[in-house]
Amino acid sequence: MEEGSPCPACKEGVFETTLQEPCTCHLGHPPCGACVNAPLVCNGCGEHANDLDLCGLCGEPGADKMSLLRHGGVAWPGERIPDGLLVHSDCERAETERAFLACPQTVRDAVLKGARRG
Ligand SMILES: [Zn+2]
Ligand SMILES: [Zn+2]
Ligand SMILES: [Zn+2]
Repeated sequence: MEEGSPCPACKEGVFETTLQEPCTCHLGHPPCGACVNAPLVCNGCGEHANDLDLCGLCGEPGADKMSLLRHGGVAWPGERIPDGLLVHSDCERAETERAFLACPQTVRDAVLKGARRG
């Protein structure tokens, strides 16, 4: 996520660097702490890019893809729904595989049939 990136939460705003405390660059040596630590905030919905960057499964930053399950994807029974909109692709693959392997074949068939019916 960087300045000007479109917001995945509201799909309308873009991220802007937003000072959370007064800038003191003019008082000393720029850039000041406020500028260095200024988070990227969506100008549409106010989401912080740093929050959105967290993986909904492991909670670590650097999530690189939208969670399928949070966007209409079908979960296997027992599959963890991510807390956030983004996940690491590795975390999602691992969790999907774990839930898939934990399902008996009859349950897998039922889920797939249900998914096809919509
Ligand atoms: Zn400053
Ligand atoms: Zn937004
Ligand atoms: Zn993760």
